[in-house]
Amino acid sequence: MKDRHFPNLHATATFAHTVRIDYGFMPVRLSDTTAAAAIAQQLCPRCRAGRIFQSSLLTWFPKMHERCPACGFKFEREQGYFLGAMYISYGLALAMIVTLTCTLWLSMGWSMQKAVIAAVAIFLPLAPPVTYFARVLWLYLDWAIDPEPE
Ligand SMILES: [Zn+2]
Repeated sequence: MKDRHFPNLHATATFAHTVRIDYGFMPVRLSDTTAAAAIAQQLCPRCRAGRIFQSSLLTWFPKMHERCPACGFKFEREQGYFLGAMYISYGLALAMIVTLTCTLWLSMGWSMQKAVIAAVAIFLPLAPPVTYFARVLWLYLDWAIDPEPE
């Protein structure tokens, strides 16, 4: 099976070598944290112990760790890797705005137009954390589909 992240054996060997040298890291032990809890706490998809972000998602533009502080897993597996997270981000945003609109429309008796405008206004401050949280979901989705051979 060809690995899209490591198209040749040399790269795999180099990567493994780098991880072991730089992080003194040996086989990954998965923590007892469940996937859902690890996603909620934004933990590394490989070990579920190290944090993905350097600060809270509620801070302005939280910085990601380049590698998991616990196991050395490189979060941005390839150039442009997080473009995929944008689709998740759009989906989350749409779902939240539709839910808010319906809630306001049904509970307040407002016109649909007014409900949509209010829902977007309520959603806007949530857009940055939703965008970054989408990266966490993307990391887990990609990990589920294509875990790194170890
Ligand atoms: Zn990790």
